[in-house]
Amino acid sequence: MDIILLGPPGAGKGTQAQRLVEHHGMRQLSTGDMLRETRKADTELGRKVAGIMDSGGLVSDEIVSAMIDAKLSDMGPEVGAIFDGYPRTAAQADQLDEILAKHGRQLDHVIELEVDEDALVERITGRFTCAKCGEGYHDVFKQPKQEGVCDKCGSTEFKRRPDDNEETVRTRMQEYRGKTAPILPGYEARNIVTRVDGMASIEDVTHAIDAILAG
Ligand code: AMP
Repeated sequence: MDIILLGPPGAGKGTQAQRLVEHHGMRQLSTGDMLRETRKADTELGRKVAGIMDSGGLVSDEIVSAMIDAKLSDMGPEVGAIFDGYPRTAAQADQLDEILAKHGRQLDHVIELEVDEDALVERITGRFTCAKCGEGYHDVFKQPKQEGVCDKCGSTEFKRRPDDNEETVRTRMQEYRGKTAPILPGYEARNIVTRVDGMASIEDVTHAIDAILAG
């Protein structure tokens, strides 16, 4: 089963994708994570990607679609893909259709996490992750059980994303509204969109997504 998790920055796509990986053995394909790897490299592309990400703008469709194509080439048909943060434009949505067809796959569900935009800035600016295992935390909503120690792997190092500041978040939301939200009607016409209340608790959102996958 291949699905898209759609929603503005901070809607909980990454958190839910990780849970789907753990519970259902699916694979998370996050173009944001792939680009964070790319920007680490001291190359022209790395620097270009870093500049775009720090501004909150979008990296070129060709670059992100090529990354998705490459990842799907490594995956057997039995492993479901969770597209997280992709597609983000109409061109990417078209490219994804072509890529899936090429790999003999098809999109089963587009799950839209609906959230109150005012809450997103607080959600995003407070979030941090374990530097070792990537477990997600939040200053207000999800502190580690023992202060400064990752619940999952015991590491004491944490990190924050450089683009999780208020100014960049506002630009990322504008990009979502202007370029990503308009791809929804095309999926609606195919009857594969389900909306989930992304303001509910992490557990409740997971249950709602599980119910959709169970059909
Ligand atoms: P994310 O981790 O999904 O919030 O993505 C972080 C940043 O990476 C975005 O603000 C964009 O600059 C870039 N990015 C991630 N995915 C895409 C995509 N599908 N298309 C264009 N840019 C992307």
